Order: sequence, then C-alpha cells, then structure tokens
Amino acid sequence: MQYQSFLIKYAEIGTKGKNRYMFEDALMKQIRYALKDVEGSFEVTKESGRIYVKADGAYDYDDTIEALKRVFGIADICPMVQFDDKDYENLKKRVVEYMDQMYPDKNLTFKVVTRRGDKQYPVNSEQMNRDLGEAVLEAFPQMKVDVHNPSVLLRVEVRQKVNLFSVIIPGPGGMPVGTNGRAMLLLSGGIDSPVAGYMIAKRGVKIDAVYFHAPPYTSDRAKQKVVDLANLVARYAGPITLHVVNFTDIQLYIYDKCPHEELTILMRRYMMRIAQTIAKRTGSIGLITGESIGQVASQTLQSLAATNEVCTMPVFRPVIGFDKQEIVDVSEKIGTYETSILPYEDCCTIFVAKHPVTKPNINVIHSSERHLSEKIDALVETALVTVEEILCQG
Ligand code: ATP
Ligand code: MG
Repeated sequence: MQYQSFLIKYAEIGTKGKNRYMFEDALMKQIRYALKDVEGSFEVTKESGRIYVKADGAYDYDDTIEALKRVFGIADICPMVQFDDKDYENLKKRVVEYMDQMYPDKNLTFKVVTRRGDKQYPVNSEQMNRDLGEAVLEAFPQMKVDVHNPSVLLRVEVRQKVNLFSVIIPGPGGMPVGTNGRAMLLLSGGIDSPVAGYMIAKRGVKIDAVYFHAPPYTSDRAKQKVVDLANLVARYAGPITLHVVNFTDIQLYIYDKCPHEELTILMRRYMMRIAQTIAKRTGSIGLITGESIGQVASQTLQSLAATNEVCTMPVFRPVIGFDKQEIVDVSEKIGTYETSILPYEDCCTIFVAKHPVTKPNINVIHSSERHLSEKIDALVETALVTVEEILCQG
C-alpha cells in the first residue's frame, strides 16, 4: 500500500484554549524541520484540529515515520488514503480497494467507524458504517464483522476530503519544542544528562547545553562524545548550541586550595554558577541536570542542597526520582545509551577524592570557598570569555 498522506493527531496541545493555534503552528514547524532531511517533498497543513502531512510524489516511507516519531507533540501518526471524490458509490469502492490492498490475508475481523465532519453529507455515520461494512463483506466473504474486538478498525472520515485509515503509529507525545521557553542543559558524557535534556525538551522547552571540559585531563575524544550526544538529543529537541567551557584552571585551583573530599561539591557549585551566567546571556530561564537522589556522593540530598544553593534560576532535574535502570531504559529508547557508555574519562572522575563528603556542611563549604579569594573570579571570567560554541543539529 502506498500512502501519500498522514493524519497527525496531537493530544495535550488540544487543551490549550486560545493559545491552541500557537501550539499547532509550532508543531507544524517542528514537523517540517523533522522532514527536511527525508527523501521526498512534503506539505504540512492544518484543518480544524487536525494536522496533515502530504507527500508530493515519491518519498521514503520508513524515514518519514522515523522522523515523525521524534516530533514532540505528536500523539499518533496515521498513514491514510485521502481523496476528494465524495460520491457514495465511489466511496464504497475505495473502501473495498483499501481493505484489499492493506490486508492480503482476508481471514480477519473488522469494524468500520465513520465520522462525518461534513454535516451536509447526505448519509449519516450509522448508515455509512453499515453500508461500508456490507460492501466489504460482499467483496470478501472470509472477513467477519466484530464490533467489540475487531483485528482491523477501519476509520472513515468525511470532512473537506475523505480520509481512510486503519493503522495508528504512536508518536512520542509531549509538546512541540519552542512552546515552553528555553533552558540550559548541563550535558556530560554520561547516561543521565542526555535523558534529562530529552525529557525537558519533550515538554516543549527549547534547550541549549553546556559542557565542562578539562584538557588535558579530559581528551578530545571525551569532548567529541558530548558533541555526539548533543547531536543525538537534537534529533528530538531541534538544534542545540553546545557551550564548551574550559574548566581546567578552575578545577586545578580548587584542588590546590581546598580539602579534597569537598572538591566535587565545590566544583559542582562553580559549574552551576557558570552555567547560570551563560544561561542568562543566552535567554534561558532554567538549568537542567541529570541528577538522581543518592546515585553518587554528590547527589545525596545534602549534596544536592549544597550545589543548589548557588542557583538563583530554577534547576530542573527530571530524573531525580528515577532508578539507574529506569534512566538506562529511556536512554536506550532514545538512542543515546551506546554513545554514553563509551569509556572516555569525565572531568569529574579525574580529581575525585577517595572519600568524598556525602553530607556536606554548608558552613564548611562557605569557609572553603572563602579560601579561593578573588583569583577564582578571574578564572571564572576567563572561562566565560573563552567559551567555544558548537551548533549541534542532529
Ligand atoms: P551523567 O550520567 O549525566 O554524567 P552522572 O551520574 O555521571 O551523570 P555526575 O557526574 O555527578 O553524575 O553529574 C551530575 C550532573 O551534573 C550531570 O547529570 C550533568 O547534568 C552535570 N554534569 C556533570 N559533569 C558535567 C560536565 N563535565 N559538564 C556538564 N555537566 C556536567
Ligand atoms: Mg557524569
């Protein structure tokens, strides 16, 4: 069966009242963006609460479905046959043809469900269900009607045009990117932060990313891995500007001046401060991390509180209550897992103490930071002016 059109159903954005058109337009924009690299040319249109994608001539069906499955805001993708001719006898023929081509094995149960959006249409939906069902049964006596649990549910919609479809492919859900502001993802080379970015982008948030790089302690390969991860997340979230911060001097300086068991917490406080400054400059109003309670010493409730203390922006931690395996499951689903587990060193692991504090005392942390004097401000300033920006477009 060669489909030329797809009906795109959306769920949550349908509830947005007066802003609904904004959500629809954002969804259409994201659909066009997702399809730009797919072979073929496509027209994306909307018609009262519906979005249609129509292929103009030859196109790659599998790639189209793959691309649409990554567009947040799509609840269902329904490949369909669409036509203008509303003549009732011709409609019956088309329905029979559809069933014939779609289901070579006629040993099945089915049900026809008609919706008549065009109220002028002379036959009501009940009658259409019966007539169309009868036409199918007449053509294929092996088929049976089952109104309760049919194996094929054929939907017939009479609107401006007529739509026939029986296949529903689930989309990713969520809301179209760009409808919910902008936030800055702290992206490391691990498993958790790409998942965190994906989850927040899924709620319609446009994301940028920041990576703290510590050459020569962390290699170019480690940096490339983060770029690769940003590109993988960008396949869902749209283009991501990755800000690469050279963190080496700050890390060395803290290492030199502070108790080593506090190093991770102090470093993380500086990461948050820097991420926040870049976020403000680039229009983000929140930070995103892949932290999960208790996963490591720096993620106990006390450590999280000590890190969070330096933030004036909200910090979104979408995997905070997830077990590691639950995070892994999402990363496998979205295709970041294989890259995340590549064994390149992470800037936090180079300097980690054997026994990091797990219950940092905030007064002690403040006192350690006082030992860092003005020099740290100069180092932060240098890190900020030497940020490298990499555009990751998936
Ligand atoms: P991940 O799997 O995301 O690397 P993790 O389990 O390794 O997380 P940590 O290393 O403690 O945990 O990092 C916690 C969070 O801090 C990360 O999820 C990420 O958001 C941020 N982060 C850690 N290291 C970096 C880094 N080098 N650059 C940017 N963000 C970082
Ligand atoms: Mg990490």
